[in-house]
Amino acid sequence: MTELSKDHTPAPVLLPHDELRMLTGQLRTLLDALHVWGVQLVPSEQLPEPSTSDPSIAHPSHPPESSPAHRGADRSRIQSVTSQEVQETLLPSHQALDPLERLSLAELETVAQQCTACRLHRGRTQVVFGVGNAQAELMFVGEAPGRDEDLQGEAFVGRAGQLLTRIIEAIGMKRQDVYITNVIKCRPPNNRNPEADEISRCEPYLIRQIALVKPRLIVALGTFAAQTLLKTKLPISQLRGRFHTYQGVRVMPTFHPAFLLRNPERKRAVWEDMQAVQRELRQPSI
Ligand code: URA
Repeated sequence: MTELSKDHTPAPVLLPHDELRMLTGQLRTLLDALHVWGVQLVPSEQLPEPSTSDPSIAHPSHPPESSPAHRGADRSRIQSVTSQEVQETLLPSHQALDPLERLSLAELETVAQQCTACRLHRGRTQVVFGVGNAQAELMFVGEAPGRDEDLQGEAFVGRAGQLLTRIIEAIGMKRQDVYITNVIKCRPPNNRNPEADEISRCEPYLIRQIALVKPRLIVALGTFAAQTLLKTKLPISQLRGRFHTYQGVRVMPTFHPAFLLRNPERKRAVWEDMQAVQRELRQPSI
């Protein structure tokens, strides 16, 4: 039976019960995402005021000390805990995975743009999430953004990126056909190597990107990408040149384009690896 309001117009289609369930679901997704960022406390001043004008209903259990001055003190305590400790609390990747599992690529990027899960957020200009075809058959995974990427917010746009673009074109594809990302989404200071804890905090984003893009094939560019995906300590020189498997996806490790700029004699090896990739992509997909 449809409830009518006083002026006999039909009530909203959503029953309060359904609406509540929908809002609870949305709130849970948001809180999960906040949890991924390391935020565990939200100052109550940021929550919307209840619409009722009856203060006993609005704040049924308001403690008497909640004067504005006290609330200010609470807020600064919460903020200092949030910024110094909670935001950098280690979220093991298996814990952080769950909330990300429900997000689309666009939602995942929104979460990543706000990420403060490791120290690298302090020095970044922009988060470099990933670029290209979200349904690509071929995905490239690099190490971490450099200076140009940090400034422009796009993966592989500097000198190494220009070489990567030529490598992609050498197998008859365009940059916009493939999906390009990095293990680490924020630039390490002075392009130093990523630390183990930075990789483990950032890895859930990569895991989810791969699950969403569902590439047929991944090219792991350099040591960090190959070792992170394949969970090995073997050097890139021993990993490259043959296919490995990550979550059922074929992975070809090869030398990083930045390494090629310093060691051009290794270009032949990368060319061979990319020809194997091209042959594999020509096989009909199952
Ligand atoms: N090197 C990388 O590993 N990734 C980039 O995006 C740029 C340079």
